[in-house]
Amino acid sequence: MKVIDKIRSEKISFSFEVFPPKTEDKFEAIQVATEQVAALSPDFMSVTYGAGGGTSKFTVKIASDIQKKFNIPVLAHLSCISSTKEGVRHQLEAIREAGIENVLALRGDIPQGAVNSGDWDYHYASELVREIKEFDPGICIGGACYPECHPESKSQREDILNMKKKVDAGCEFLTTQMFFDNNVYWNYLYKVRDAGINVPIVAGIMPITSVKQVERSLKLSGAQVPLKFKYMVDRFGHDAEAMRQAGIIYATEQIVDLIANGVSAVHLYTMNNAYVAESIKNNLKGILEI
Ligand code: FAD
Repeated sequence: MKVIDKIRSEKISFSFEVFPPKTEDKFEAIQVATEQVAALSPDFMSVTYGAGGGTSKFTVKIASDIQKKFNIPVLAHLSCISSTKEGVRHQLEAIREAGIENVLALRGDIPQGAVNSGDWDYHYASELVREIKEFDPGICIGGACYPECHPESKSQREDILNMKKKVDAGCEFLTTQMFFDNNVYWNYLYKVRDAGINVPIVAGIMPITSVKQVERSLKLSGAQVPLKFKYMVDRFGHDAEAMRQAGIIYATEQIVDLIANGVSAVHLYTMNNAYVAESIKNNLKGILEI
């Protein structure tokens, strides 16, 4: 089951991201949470991968369990910056053995204090894309993209031209970093198409449903927030239930606007929260059916 077929289908694709446990003792609890998310029948599910070891060993296990149990196509994230060629091959073997046909090819973040050095086996995601193609040309490969520019890039133009290298190497679609202002996505899309990149750009939406999440998510993504978002957090941030409701509505509104203006693939960063994912999906019930 290829996720590109879902993304390119006439129907709107609404998919979910989950993360695997960091440690063995958390496995069961996280598995239950990810299965609750999968039970909502998204068009496909993606499972993240810890760059420096961390959560990497559980990615394939969680993804293949979801695929088997729910018959949903899964997308296993795979990063390369801290890996050897042998390590990447090993992961790809595990992915193939588990019957997973889709990989989100990532570079991963450079470990703190390190330099993207010539000694490493991989420096950029495009090298991983080539490696995966060589391993199995039939795997559907996606990549990451950054509507507000990747933090290491000097300019957005440079970032987009670098991104084209991933697409030229074989990325069939790109999923955006979270953004909170849809104008950011529209402006980006225009520039991406102008650069001759024609693959689908799946909109990645992060529902912010607690004040704790605000600082962490914004720091991680570098995303700017519009005044509307700031006012929401100012007014509701101190009340857990009000903030959760407001965050669900904010993400819903973003998605409605995206779909109303022609976006046909949305990926929700669920943070393993089935309640939030279900609430948003219910809000979009009629819209997702058109
Ligand atoms: P690249 O595409 O390699 O780009 C990284 C930087 O290098 C950019 O500034 C780019 O412009 C530049 N660059 C690229 N190619 C070249 C070149 N040939 N020459 C010079 N410069 C170049 N991280 C994880 O660890 N695990 C995950 O599961 C995960 N999932 C993610 C999912 C999504 C949708 C997104 C948007 C990000 C995810 N990340 C994940 C984070 C990601 O690993 C980091 O943002 C990382 O810093 C960059 O990864 P990349 O694959 O985009 O890198």
